[in-house]
Amino acid sequence: MKSMKKNKEWPSLRFARMNVESAEEVSQFILWLCGWLPATDPLADDDREPMDSEDLLEHLWGWSGAPKMRMAKLLWQQLVGNNSESYFDQQFSSNPAYLVPEITPSIGQLIPIQQNLRWILEARMEREREDALIGQGSWGEDFWLPRDQAAYLRQQIRRASPDLIEEKSLYEDSMEYTSFPYFELDSDEADRTYVGTVDEEFRAFVEIVDSHGNRWPLKFPRSPYKVEPGTGFFWGYGGHGPYNLALAILADAVGGDYELSDELRSGFLKQVLMETPQADRLQISRAEVMAWLETKGVSAVQLKEAAARVAKLRDSNQQKIAEFTLRMETIHKKGGLVAQRFDIVPADFECALYLDLMQNLERTGWVLRCSHCKQALACPRTPTGNRQRARWLAGSPVYHEDCFAKHRLAHKRAYWQKRTETSGFRDSERLRAQKRRRVS
Ligand SMILES: [Zn+2]
Repeated sequence: MKSMKKNKEWPSLRFARMNVESAEEVSQFILWLCGWLPATDPLADDDREPMDSEDLLEHLWGWSGAPKMRMAKLLWQQLVGNNSESYFDQQFSSNPAYLVPEITPSIGQLIPIQQNLRWILEARMEREREDALIGQGSWGEDFWLPRDQAAYLRQQIRRASPDLIEEKSLYEDSMEYTSFPYFELDSDEADRTYVGTVDEEFRAFVEIVDSHGNRWPLKFPRSPYKVEPGTGFFWGYGGHGPYNLALAILADAVGGDYELSDELRSGFLKQVLMETPQADRLQISRAEVMAWLETKGVSAVQLKEAAARVAKLRDSNQQKIAEFTLRMETIHKKGGLVAQRFDIVPADFECALYLDLMQNLERTGWVLRCSHCKQALACPRTPTGNRQRARWLAGSPVYHEDCFAKHRLAHKRAYWQKRTETSGFRDSERLRAQKRRRVS
C-alpha cells in the first residue's frame, strides 16, 4: 500500500486494535482523543492539514460537546468510577504519571467492551468479502451486519439520545482578540494594592483594592477580553501566568503605559513575583511597585513621558474603546454568549464507541482487514478507497498506516537476516560493490 494522504482514524477502530490491558496504551488513547499527543505519534493528526468540520467541532467545543473529548471523559469517568463533574474538573490530568495509576485498577472492564466490538467488526469484515462475491451493494442495498451483531449494535446506540446541547463561551469569545494599546485603569488612587489569592482548586485570582476597600479584578494585559478579569495570572515561578501578571501590575502602576512596563517586566517577574511562593497570598502595594521602579533607575521624567503616551493613545482610541465596552455590556445583558447544536449524546463510553462506529459505517461504509494486525481498517468511499478495497478483495495486503511501517521494517529485517545467513551472499555483495566502483 502506498502511503496516501493521512487518514484520520476512527476512535472505535483504534480502540478495537489496541491493547486494552495496558494502562499506558489506554492513557495514550485518552490523550489522543483529547488531541494532546505529541506530533511524533504516527497516528496524530497532521497540523499542516487544513481543519475540517470534525476538527472544528473538537476545537470549538469542550468536554460535553466535542465527540472525541467527550468520549475521553466518559472513558476516564468509567475507569475511575466517578461521574461527578467537579471530580472530573479537579482530578483529570493530561500527565500520564497521574493518569496511568488512576486507571490501572479498573482496566479489566475494557476487555469485554473490546471483545464485543471486535465481534461486530469481525462480522462486518467477513460480510464485506461475501457481499462483494454475491454482488450485494451494487443495487444500493448494503447488507451490513448479521442478526445478532445488528441486535447488539442497535441496543447500544439506542441508549444514546438526540439532544440540543449547549455550552457557554469560556469568557466572551467574540471579544477574545480585541487588543488595547494601553492598560485601562479602574482606579487611579495612589494607595491601591494588588492582591492575589489561590482557591482550594489552586486557581489564582488577582484584584486591585483601594483604601476604601473597593475591588476590581485585574484585567488581562493587552487583550483584556481574552480571559475573565482577575484570572490568567500566577506567581512563584517563571511561566506564562506570572509573566502576564508582571506586565499587568507594572502597566497599572505607571498609569497604563506598555512601553515602559515591557522593558521592566522580566526584572519585576524575577525579583518580585517569583519571590512569593505559589501557595501564598500575593500582596503588593502600588507604592512598593513605584519604589522598586526607582531602584531600577526609572525617573520622574520617564513616568511623565509614559503618562503622555497613554493620554495620546486614549484620545485616538476613545471611540473604539467605547464601542468595545458597549458590546461587552450588551453581551452581559443577554446572559453571555452561548453555542448550541444538535447532537446525539452517548450514555457512556461503550455507547460512545458505537455512535462512532455508526457514523463510520454510515460515512465510509467499508471495513477492511489489516494484513499486519488483522484488525479492522476503515475505507472511505473515495477513488483511493475504491482502489484499496479492490486490492483487498483481490487478496492483496492492506495496512493501517503505522502497521505498514512495522510490516516494512519486519520485512527488511527478515530479508537481511536471510541474506547474511546464506553462504556466498557476502561474496556476491563484494562483486557487486566492485562492479559499481568500476562503473563510476
Ligand atoms: Zn493494522
